[in-house]
Amino acid sequence: MRYIAPMRWPPVLVEPVFRPPSEASSLILQLTVGCSWNRCTYCAMYRGKELRVRPVEEVLEEVRGAAAAVPRVRRVFLADGDALAAPGVLEAVLGAIREELPDVQRVGIYGDSRSILRHGAEGLARLRKLGLGIVYFGPETGDEATLRAVRKGATVQRQLEASRTVLDAGIKLSVMVLLGLAGVEGSERHARATGRFLVDAAPTYAAALTVTPVPGTELFDAVENGAFQLPDRWGMLRELGWMLEEMEGYRGPFHANHASNYLPLKLRLPRDREPAMDLIRRVLETRDETALRPGRGGCDRPPGPGMCTMARSWRRDG
Ligand code: SF4
Repeated sequence: MRYIAPMRWPPVLVEPVFRPPSEASSLILQLTVGCSWNRCTYCAMYRGKELRVRPVEEVLEEVRGAAAAVPRVRRVFLADGDALAAPGVLEAVLGAIREELPDVQRVGIYGDSRSILRHGAEGLARLRKLGLGIVYFGPETGDEATLRAVRKGATVQRQLEASRTVLDAGIKLSVMVLLGLAGVEGSERHARATGRFLVDAAPTYAAALTVTPVPGTELFDAVENGAFQLPDRWGMLRELGWMLEEMEGYRGPFHANHASNYLPLKLRLPRDREPAMDLIRRVLETRDETALRPGRGGCDRPPGPGMCTMARSWRRDG
């Protein structure tokens, strides 16, 4: 017997809901509430939420509601922090999207290394056949010491394996790393290791964002009490330059144009690597304020409370 779900529209969204910038026009369905890890020292996205999986019937009702309300929708993003942690619901919802929303070309999801590796390439390949098209993964750094310090709960090797597992399954992989995550002290080590990590991981897309301390996180407290010193805007730029220096052999889009970044760069590597490194060198030598993003160039403070925050710009309605 097959369950025929009634309709529910609009979808229930337990705020705050986050999605990657490239999913701005996607239909968002929330499969899980919260993050399965929720311990990273720099992240406040799901601090107020305890992880739970939403009842599958509810989400299926929302897919049917979408079929009536927005039948031509082309992209769907499955929230929250790690909907891969709910495999049963995920398979049922992907199947329903395929059946009820035939114009959907891509379904996206955030992935955590633990959940990715739990599925393995075979499990993910099954999800790809059901329509999963892209996994957004945030290893943040390729530096072991920094991973430990920010309590990411994974080693560089595990994050590399997770990256390869997604790609082996034939799913697009979008990787995010964070400038400034190791502070002034670990700046060069983190930047160079992260550049090398990106070359090894060879994701479909990569983006470098700038870390922003958010109230309610350990990182914010450490910045406030002076235990952690963020690089200033020039230091962040220097990190981007070091990262690019290590990215010889990297092929594909590499974006550093997020609202949190001081010097917006949208690159295709290897073509743009040398010109970008030259530009960074020039801006650093001349301290050219005009090259920096408006609103990010007029102050020598590192990003902090009250300034553009990564979390805010990543919000569903941000
Ligand atoms: S960074 Fe990702 S894994 Fe870490 S707490 Fe935030 S959502 Fe969870």
